[in-house]
Amino acid sequence: MFKTIDKLDVKGKRVLVRADLNVPAKDGKITDTTRIDRSAATLTELAAKGAKVIVLTHFGRPKGREEKYSQKLLVEPLAKAVGKPVAWADDCIGPEAEKLIAAMKDGDIALLENVRFHPEEEKNDFGFAKALSGLGDVYVNDAFSTAHRAHASTEGLAHLLPAAAGRLMQAELEALGKALEHPEKPVAAIVGGAKVSTKLELLGNLVSRVDYLIIGGGMANTFLFAQGKQVGKSLCEKEMADTAREILAKAKAAGCHIVLPVDAVVAGEFAENAPNRVVSVESVPEDMMILDAGPASAETVIDRLGGCKTLVWNGPFGAFEIKPFDAATNAVAQWAAERTKQGKLLTVAGGGDTVSALAKAGVEDKFSYVSTAGGAFLEWLEGKDLPGVAALKIIPAKTGGGCGCSCSH
Ligand code: AMP
Repeated sequence: MFKTIDKLDVKGKRVLVRADLNVPAKDGKITDTTRIDRSAATLTELAAKGAKVIVLTHFGRPKGREEKYSQKLLVEPLAKAVGKPVAWADDCIGPEAEKLIAAMKDGDIALLENVRFHPEEEKNDFGFAKALSGLGDVYVNDAFSTAHRAHASTEGLAHLLPAAAGRLMQAELEALGKALEHPEKPVAAIVGGAKVSTKLELLGNLVSRVDYLIIGGGMANTFLFAQGKQVGKSLCEKEMADTAREILAKAKAAGCHIVLPVDAVVAGEFAENAPNRVVSVESVPEDMMILDAGPASAETVIDRLGGCKTLVWNGPFGAFEIKPFDAATNAVAQWAAERTKQGKLLTVAGGGDTVSALAKAGVEDKFSYVSTAGGAFLEWLEGKDLPGVAALKIIPAKTGGGCGCSCSH
């Protein structure tokens, strides 16, 4: 469906790689290099194949050229990650970039300044994309996390140069494909988190794709309320009750089993170690709030998952940031990790707080795949076509005397 770098002939070619090096930083110092380290695989592979590797990325949300968002601070950690010097140009188009690229030798790696210093980037301006495309012969997109945005460097370029997915993008698309597009059945999805209102499209998409939809977190309260249960002081979007009932009806029509909590951990306040107790969802006290799914609910979830081959997970079962309201999330996550290890369950998770909830449960690296893509992962769960991914399936309009890849266009 999409081309990978296996299909590209890159020797001696200028390869523009859109990476996601948007690392967290404080006071001009990078606080976590994970994104840089993970991007290294594609860059070093292309360099080893004799490409001139030119890295495009964004950093922060600059409004035009703002020096505090300069990517110069990325040069050193990137050089460390790829194990060789990284050349630098302080603009991503124009004479500076052209001069630098003209001096590159096969196997060299260069980083260009923030693509978002040009407002045309986020407008997917054709002229800007064209200027970028003039710097390369081939385009590789390795930034799944920005693929839900149709920007010049994430989408526009794919229409102007022979394009392929980098290794990170490939891993993400393969994992997501196995989880929802062509999964081993039965498939379950866990959707937790705070509110129904932020996950409507996601729930609507999942009910028609999965066999079990397990609902947790604050949003489960809205579903319980919609079924006529009292939820006391719990987070609950009462105005969404009709919507929740519609989702339940849609699930029924699609043959999707909805799994809701049967018991809950309740407390008088949203606070660490607040005095708490377990109650049935039929008898939540008026002056208390649900802060986690109870042990019987976690058991029920595990029981349902026991018959499944694939699990997609977004959102915690409770207020996992404050103890002990992380118990249900931890119990199910640890069970799913063990099941993954046994080769009995394919587990794909991501989006928002899910990565930190799984890290807290100690299983972040024990799932089949944990996506750190945030918004792009959620849009994928919503069933949307991500423009950056869709564009990789498009044959470039201008192929001239050969598109540079090993395919037949
Ligand atoms: P989301 O970003 O939608 O995945 O929501 C994650 C947030 O939902 C976390 O900050 C949790 O603390 C919160 N959350 C989960 N369950 C509850 C609950 N029962 N009551 C209040 N907040 C919750």
